[in-house]
Amino acid sequence: MASGQEHDKTTKQWAAPFAFIIGLLVDMRSGVISGIAFLIGGLWLSPDLDTHSISLKRWGILKSIWWPYRKVIPHRSIFSHCPFIGTAIRVAYLIFIGILIIYLLTFLDLADTSTTSLLQAQLMKTNQKDYLFMFLGVEASSWLHLIKDGDPFPK
Ligand SMILES: [Zn+2]
Repeated sequence: MASGQEHDKTTKQWAAPFAFIIGLLVDMRSGVISGIAFLIGGLWLSPDLDTHSISLKRWGILKSIWWPYRKVIPHRSIFSHCPFIGTAIRVAYLIFIGILIIYLLTFLDLADTSTTSLLQAQLMKTNQKDYLFMFLGVEASSWLHLIKDGDPFPK
């Protein structure tokens, strides 16, 4: 199992080559999007968010949003350290928290419905292909993490 520093180092080393390969295979825009998502995936959305880790500390004052996640997901379980499942759960959890915060801000009159509707419309307008390459980048960084941990399929 690799340390947090090793995971960070390999994430930073592989982000640009990954972006370059996607850029060559698909297009430059998808390469840039997937490369940035790879970095974000490895540094902020790492499978190790299920424990006290460097990735968790990186969230600063926002790290408490991952407290319920850490309570429910056991460290190195299939729900955090398994290809596709781990990334899907982390991304879905983050989207859920984002929606919850938007509704809370609207409920407390700190954001009005026109602002949230505008944000929603903007998110819907974003190219579906961009979302696909965002997920691909996060998932690829997760695979790198699992390979470095030495066991991509926990029991
Ligand atoms: Zn791990």
